[in-house]
Amino acid sequence: MADAFSTAEIEAFLDEALPAARMAAIEDALRKSETLKQQLVAINGRRDAGVHGLGEIWRRRRLSCPTREQLGSYLLGVLSKEQVDYITFHLTTVECRYCTANIDDLRAQQSAGAAEVSERRRRYFQSSAGYLGKEDG
Ligand SMILES: [Zn+2]
Repeated sequence: MADAFSTAEIEAFLDEALPAARMAAIEDALRKSETLKQQLVAINGRRDAGVHGLGEIWRRRRLSCPTREQLGSYLLGVLSKEQVDYITFHLTTVECRYCTANIDDLRAQQSAGAAEVSERRRRYFQSSAGYLGKEDG
């Protein structure tokens, strides 16, 4: 948590001018540190009037969308806490429209799948009930 970034570094981050590892470190720290978020928004506001929200900055920079597979796993609840935090952040803070649409689609598919399974189960039980009925008579 002692990770502090200089203004120059944050400027470079906004320019995507840092080495990949450093970019990732700042991206990661941004998800955890409210102070750093405010710092970034303030710096960005000075240079890019009109863009004030972190989500907006994020969207503009198109930072790391999770894959469709990751979104699917997110819905199934099989991801690590860290991955869940990242995707929740991506969907709720960044409000990424692309991923929101993707996840809505996946959710619809999953519930359609669940309906199919329960229909199959219902038919199975009906036919076994029919079978048992004959045995009975
Ligand atoms: Zn996204």
